[in-house]
Order: sequence, then structure tokens, then C-alpha cells
Amino acid sequence: ATPTAVTCGTAIMTRLGIITRRSGVFERLPKIQHVVFDKTGTLTLGSLSITSIELTAELSEQQALNYIAALEAGSLHPIAKAFSQYTDRSINVTERQSIVGKGLSGVIDGAVCKVGSQQFVAGSNNIESCTTVWLSCNDIVQARVSLNDEVRPETAQAVKQLKSMGCKLSIASGDNSTEVVALGQRLGISDTHQGLSPKGKLELIDRFQQHGQVAMFGDGINDAPVLAGANLSVAMGSGAAISKNSADIILLGDNLSRFADAVNVAKKTGRIIK
Ligand code: ADP
Ligand code: MG
Repeated sequence: ATPTAVTCGTAIMTRLGIITRRSGVFERLPKIQHVVFDKTGTLTLGSLSITSIELTAELSEQQALNYIAALEAGSLHPIAKAFSQYTDRSINVTERQSIVGKGLSGVIDGAVCKVGSQQFVAGSNNIESCTTVWLSCNDIVQARVSLNDEVRPETAQAVKQLKSMGCKLSIASGDNSTEVVALGQRLGISDTHQGLSPKGKLELIDRFQQHGQVAMFGDGINDAPVLAGANLSVAMGSGAAISKNSADIILLGDNLSRFADAVNVAKKTGRIIK
């Protein structure tokens, strides 16, 4: 597109809350054939709430929640927010480590404690019924906490728009619950991939990109590599700074249905020069 057309197009996009960050976005947008969504924080609000807790060793419910909150202190993951109300400043964590897409570890009262996925905490990996956070101390599993998240109000409409535009749709999630498949069924997205590491997400879209132009949507630190590797990348405005730095487009207000608007503006911008 001509510089004038791009300037006009950029102004229209900005008014819609669509921030274009790289040159070439206008040329790439109309070519997208396949859209891949992260789940937590992208298709869903990412404001998780605790629905139940199962205790499996000596820690009480209060202690387990306090331990998790202490380990999660400073974490920007949506899961961390669900526990922040249980922060107890008398619990001291040393040697804290964050492992993207897995969880956190740290030493509490001389015990090595871990919070995160079943794979990370317990070394095993079964498909779980909902988003579940595990806690262990010195390799003894102490608690399993079930969390619930809500689908964004704009998600269903965005999926419908993209389908009517002829885009193939997929979900790529780090979550290992049957919710990934259930959410796909609810939204009409049959191609779902779960339990993916940040590297696993990147390998998945590398495969997709052999068959067509792919747009990846994400919000988390764990999405930064896949966003950087996608033909076109879209970050949520409320997402982690690193995901926004890796993205071609940022959706202010987190409104997924604005992407279809962006494609339409880009198509018109391209037509002006023909
Ligand atoms: P998603 O792709 O759904 O956004 P992530 O890749 O960020 O998910 O995380 C994958 C899984 O790793 C989560 O479902 C959770 O079990 C675990 N996990 C990651 N980060 C954390 C954290 N800060 N606290 C607890 N669990 C975590
Ligand atoms: Mg996410």
C-alpha cells in the first residue's frame, strides 16, 4: 500500500483500538488463512477463581493457600492473581525460580516447594477436568486447586466472523485440562492442542505455516516465542509486556472481534493503490 493509504488505514485502526506496530501488517492481514488462539487470557478473561481445593498431605487448606500465594508473589501469570488474597507476609520464600509455561519453585521453611502444572510438580501428566494448580513440598504433593475462568464476551462473535471469512481456527494452550477441548466445542473450534510448552506452541504454528499464512493470538509471557515466530501476531492489550513487544498488532480493550475489522481496513487500504 502507498504511504498515504497506510497512514489513513493506521488512523482508522487506532480509532478502533487496533495498534499496528510493524510495517507490512497491512499487506499481511488480508492473506491470513489460519488463526490460532491461546486459551487463558486470550479466549478467556484470565481472571481465574478458586472453585475447590483437595489436600493430600499435612498442610491445612489455609497453609496450602498461603504457600501458593507466597510462591506466586511477583508472578504476572493470571493464575497468580487467584491466590493474591491469601498472601501472608510471615512466609519467607528464598531461591524463587519461575519456569515459563510450568510454574514456580522456592524454598519455604527449608523445604523445596513447587507450584504449577501436574507435570512440573508431580512429574506425571494426566488430562485434568479443569485448570488445576498443584503444590508440593520436598516432592510430596500437598494440594490440588481447581480454578475456573470465563470466556471473554467478544470471543463467540470473533470466532463467527473469522469463520465466515473462511479462516481455519485452532486453539493452542499450555493448560492440560479437558476444558481446552470443551471450550473448542462450545465455540465451534474442533482443532485443539493442549499441554503445550512455549516451544511446543512455536513448533505447532511452524507446522501450520507450511500450509498457509497463520495469525497467532496470545497474552502471556509463555506466548512470546510463538508470537515472534508467527506470520502475523496479535497480543491482548492487557497482556504481558513481552507478548506485546513480540506482536505485530495489539488489541486495546482486549476486543477479539476487532481483528476482523483490522482485516477489512487492511483490504480497503490495499485497494486504494490499485
Ligand atoms: P496458557 O497457554 O493456557 O496461557 P501457560 O502456558 O501459561 O498457559 O501455563 C500452562 C500451565 O502451567 C498452566 O495451566 C499451569 O498449570 C502451569 N503454570 C504456568 N505458570 C504458572 C504459575 N505462575 N502458577 C501456577 N501454575 C502455572
Ligand atoms: Mg495465556
